[in-house]
Amino acid sequence: MLKGKSALVTGSTSGIGLAYARAFAAQGADVMINGLGDAAQIEAARQAIETDFGVRALYSAADMTQPDQIEAMVREAESTLGKVDILVNNAGIQHVSPIDEFPIDKWNAIIAINLSSAFHTMRAVLPGMKARRWGRIINTASAHALVASPYKSAYVAAKHGIAGLTKTAALEVAQLGITVNAICPGYVWTPLVERQVPDTAKARGISEEAVKRDVLLAAQPTKEFVTVEEVAALAVFLASDGARSMTGTLLPVDGGWTAA
Ligand code: NAD
Repeated sequence: MLKGKSALVTGSTSGIGLAYARAFAAQGADVMINGLGDAAQIEAARQAIETDFGVRALYSAADMTQPDQIEAMVREAESTLGKVDILVNNAGIQHVSPIDEFPIDKWNAIIAINLSSAFHTMRAVLPGMKARRWGRIINTASAHALVASPYKSAYVAAKHGIAGLTKTAALEVAQLGITVNAICPGYVWTPLVERQVPDTAKARGISEEAVKRDVLLAAQPTKEFVTVEEVAALAVFLASDGARSMTGTLLPVDGGWTAA
């Protein structure tokens, strides 16, 4: 379905981003992955995409807090893959703290990585997409783009910000064959979430099952985690020609969280 297309996915060395990259590759797209982490593990993930799906997979180590590195990443993707047809802004971090104790450096990093990086990538890819009159921009927002939770001020502000950026960009390019949408996952079972479970169980003196049920899934009516494959399946649809009239949308994949 995506043969001949190329996709750039930020924050795709693990979790949801890696699932997006693999799902696009499974449809025949060449991909550039990006993110932090252990070099050997990243190289293994990159190679696995090539061997599993027979596409080209490249890796950029660009830091999403650095606008010059973001610009260079997009130019590298354009020169090595020929073009960027699909851009997914997915890199993200979290910090949980009351506002009056929130570290300023954490606020700045979350706004830079979870919000501003998407402005910088879009700014760099849009001229090419406009010239070709085809493009798909998919932003990983969150249920926290639609509702708030206490102690997540920077994350909720950044995710509400990405919702506004999504709608604004969609309007600007609506007549140019380019769509811009945001996926809003609830709790997704990623290594990031998995790692929190034993520590939270210890801190609260409850079982790991109780952490999942009473802490993490308290807001999610299905009482099940969303999977990375379910999030990626929506991204594949948004990248398809079938979704050409969907733009400026904020699409929950949250087990009913934001319906409550
Ligand atoms: P993850 O930690 O597995 O993935 C985050 C990715 O971002 C990693 O590849 C990491 O290396 C990358 N990254 C972090 N800082 C970076 C930087 N400075 N420069 C470049 N890359 C950087 O987490 P995930 O759960 O897969 O999260 C992916 C996205 O999904 C995030 O935007 C997150 O806010 C969003 N999201 C996650 C959940 C969830 O429950 N897991 C729910 C809603 C939204």
